[in-house]
Amino acid sequence: MAKHIKSIRGMHDVLPDETHRWQAFEAIIRQLMSTYGYREIRMPLVESTDLFCRSIGEVTDIVEKEMYTFKDRNGDMLTLRPEGTASCVRAGIQHGLLHNQVQRLWYNGPMFRHERPQKGRYRQFHQFGVEAYGIATPDIDAEQILISARLWKELGLKNIRLELNTLGSSEARAAYKQVLVDYLQQHYELLDEDSRRRLETNPLRILDSKNPAMQEMLEQAPALFDHLDEESRVQFDKLRTLLDAVGIEYSINPRLVRGLDYYCKTVFEWITDELGAQGTICAGGRYDGLVEQLGGKPTPAVGFALGMERILALLEAQQEQAAETIDVYMVLLGEACELKGLQLAETIRDRLPGLKMLCHCGGGSMKSQMKKADKSGAELALIMGEDELNRQTFTVKYLRSKKEQQNVAFADTADFLADIQQQATTEQT
Ligand code: ATP
Ligand code: MG
Repeated sequence: MAKHIKSIRGMHDVLPDETHRWQAFEAIIRQLMSTYGYREIRMPLVESTDLFCRSIGEVTDIVEKEMYTFKDRNGDMLTLRPEGTASCVRAGIQHGLLHNQVQRLWYNGPMFRHERPQKGRYRQFHQFGVEAYGIATPDIDAEQILISARLWKELGLKNIRLELNTLGSSEARAAYKQVLVDYLQQHYELLDEDSRRRLETNPLRILDSKNPAMQEMLEQAPALFDHLDEESRVQFDKLRTLLDAVGIEYSINPRLVRGLDYYCKTVFEWITDELGAQGTICAGGRYDGLVEQLGGKPTPAVGFALGMERILALLEAQQEQAAETIDVYMVLLGEACELKGLQLAETIRDRLPGLKMLCHCGGGSMKSQMKKADKSGAELALIMGEDELNRQTFTVKYLRSKKEQQNVAFADTADFLADIQQQATTEQT
């Protein structure tokens, strides 16, 4: 019997049970992009190897060790695309879409990188990418951050944070590079093997190192921020003003440098702590020099790409969590309270059919019941002991926030919970 042929390591089938999740995600993307006036572009999966070497950079991880490159039957060097931006710029130049015009574009499809496969890191993975050409001002940077933020909202994703930095102009970056190399050379004995190699090739990437032994030394390194050109500084301030005005929260991470050479000025990443080491779900920034570098006329550009597998994984994890948790846990101390609690719970359920409420059964101390309330994932506990029963009120304890505890009359409890539900849904939309 012949051996069964399997899919390539790190390249996965999407089976019929899962395709509906992809389709729903893609439908949201398509709809969202049209509401912001972005149009879809579809590029080939295979390009000249040269395109990626000239754009992503010869000494980046992608070009050095991750590309699927092969000679075709004519002897031409081709590469399965590891990302979409280079192809998008190539297509834009080739078809005259970029010169003296504004383009807002998006694409979505498989990318290929020969990395070590693990959770959230595959050899064939899918990116949704957004690019805008012809606008040099930071309002378009803000627009793209808003698009991504709205996408999280529409998907119902929670607990993701935005990190922001500016890399400055390429001239400012080149000047800073020298300052950084000088500093790192003074601490050569602390550098790991990878960093020693990068010292020659791509010293900025050393800042990105996760090696714990190097953290303290890197914290002390001269900051790019102190070597910025005036224009980049002004642009970054404007971007921050815009983001503040639309209520987007962010933190500035001066060591955020991104792994591709073509970025300048604004860079950003959306990060979650719920996916382990593969926590960056979306990343992007400005790349004003790339169009010219690939043979076009100078054209400002900004874009981002998100990893669809990582987002679907996060979504699934959060939905599972939500399905398992309840909204309210009723803590009932003593037989009289158990009886009253049972009655009240039924009237509340009549009023609020969607509410997920657990009444404690089986007795036990306040401490043991509160422990169970906490474990249940409930937002709040309604507590009834002898005192509460006499006063005909619950003590309300918030289990997930620092809000102070309060009292609510038995008769008002359903209204009170309805208000809270209402608030939660408006916060989500
Ligand atoms: P990482 O630091 O995780 O390797 P990256 O900087 O190489 O990411 P980009 O090239 O900016 O990533 O790609 C944008 C997004 O695509 C990433 O934020 C991530 O969500 C996703 N992505 C990148 N590489 C992979 C991969 N091998 N498998 C799955 N998703 C990926
Ligand atoms: Mg990578």
